[in-house]
Amino acid sequence: MGGTFDPIHHGHLVAASEAASTLGLDEVIFVPTGQPWHKKPVSSAEHRYLMTVIATAANPQFTVSRIDIDRPGTTYTIDTLRDLASQYPDADLVFISGADAIAQILAWKEIDKVWSLAEFIAVSRPGHKLELPEAPEGTISVLEVPALSISSTNIRSRAEEGKPIWYLVPDGVVQYIAKHQLYRGGN
Ligand code: NAP
Repeated sequence: MGGTFDPIHHGHLVAASEAASTLGLDEVIFVPTGQPWHKKPVSSAEHRYLMTVIATAANPQFTVSRIDIDRPGTTYTIDTLRDLASQYPDADLVFISGADAIAQILAWKEIDKVWSLAEFIAVSRPGHKLELPEAPEGTISVLEVPALSISSTNIRSRAEEGKPIWYLVPDGVVQYIAKHQLYRGGN
């Protein structure tokens, strides 16, 4: 489950749970992005990693990996998948992420090699019109997740305006954001 997770919210968690149940996955590994090539996250990698740990701690099927935040330089999914394949040599990897992110997949680094490393699940909200890229047959599937009407962008705006974010993110993440004054400007 790849994402910037700035911050992680219940939409991500429901999407991961739905994907695990629909596809019969053994485990969902959340992999917070280090430095994305296309944007600068608002919060540091360490804050995003810790919020992801807090949000997933209660679910025995969920774990969090530091591979993208510990690898120096820009994060590319080809490196994420190569590192995971060497850590889990016997696993069939499924890369889950937002449909809008996966819609851009043809522009990703070494995309010709990426196809052979994983199957892709693009999680999308119902009614969201999605143009899937021309990928090799069977490599990308779409999973509709109603809870994805929650978005990190909206949570950051609400936090900045001092509006409540309770119930949009896990309680521990609300408290972490308040404690570290994230998204209040200057973070
Ligand atoms: P993004 O562009 O910030 O997000 C695009 C949309 O997808 C947003 O609506 C976002 O909602 C949603 N989204 C992102 N991750 C999600 C997830 N795990 N579950 C559900 N919705 C999700 O995308 P990003 O976070 O930077 O990148 C997503 C993944 O693709 C990361 O693992 C990243 O490393 C990878 N990626 C790789 C390349 C490359 O290799 N060149 C390029 C781009 C992205 P929220 O804001 O609410 O999450």
